[in-house]
Amino acid sequence: MFVERNNQFSVVCYARVADNCSENGGWCDSEEEAQDWVEDECWIFSGEGWFCIECNSHYMRNLSQTRRDKGLNSMLPNGWDDDLEVGIETVR
Ligand SMILES: [Zn+2]
Repeated sequence: MFVERNNQFSVVCYARVADNCSENGGWCDSEEEAQDWVEDECWIFSGEGWFCIECNSHYMRNLSQTRRDKGLNSMLPNGWDDDLEVGIETVR
């Protein structure tokens, strides 16, 4: 979930679904600092990776659509939206 460039580290947005996705966080001297950076920016940790606030708001606007198109329900925290999970199960 990190990228390294010139000994600088940055957290990559795991989702990359929003048109204005940040794609990666700030560049820091270590992975730990890069992770602190995204925490300060209120990025969301899904369990598999971080996604940026732009992608998070994209989810909030288009949650069911996004899940259907990209199968992203697996990356969302368990029990985050049980009603939607049930809805998706019945579609399959
Ligand atoms: Zn993003």
